[in-house]
Amino acid sequence: MQRGRLEVIAGTMFGGKSTELIRRVNRYEVTGKSSQLFKPIIDNRYSKEHVSSHDGLIKKVIAVQDYVDLAQRYNPNIPVLAVDEPQFLDGTIVDLCEEHAQRGGVAIVSLLLKDFKDRYFQFKDGKYDASEFLRRADDIVFLKAICTAQESNGAQISGIIQRFDSASEEKQICGQEATRVQRFIDGKVASSESPLVLVGQKEAYAPRCRQHYVFY
Ligand SMILES: [Zn+2]
Repeated sequence: MQRGRLEVIAGTMFGGKSTELIRRVNRYEVTGKSSQLFKPIIDNRYSKEHVSSHDGLIKKVIAVQDYVDLAQRYNPNIPVLAVDEPQFLDGTIVDLCEEHAQRGGVAIVSLLLKDFKDRYFQFKDGKYDASEFLRRADDIVFLKAICTAQESNGAQISGIIQRFDSASEEKQICGQEATRVQRFIDGKVASSESPLVLVGQKEAYAPRCRQHYVFY
């Protein structure tokens, strides 16, 4: 009898979670374990049939509208169940992944653990927050990004970083490991009261270390 497990790839934005998810799915496929890879449709950043990682790896994916959609398409007989960005679904996704592992399957999720307010992501139905995956996991890896805050003569320059801006040769980015993500609206740090959906304003996110993350 095959031993099941729940693997959690947790981390911050820009930490390479999708890349790691695809890497693991590929490794299981090499050993003869077929997979089904789901991803909630949240925006049109990527093709709806593929999960793309920032380094260009792509993998065929089943794009789902919500948890119910996923549950209907889920095939319990396929050994590897992989879910990219499960924090955008209902909390029941945690239960489904656990059931899959209990039956001897491998469940792998790439999970955005915290929002820009540095709080655990709440699932859509409010059933759990993202930490529930950590509690139930057999294996957890936490992936960090690189803090891109600019420093000039030791002082931080606020705003969004143009990493390859040739005009900023004098300035250096922080380069520390980033465990948080800062949200910017129209180039300024967004307050925790700022609405999640913006109309007519430009928003951006950037990875930040402890020293450069601003609570606002
Ligand atoms: Zn930093």
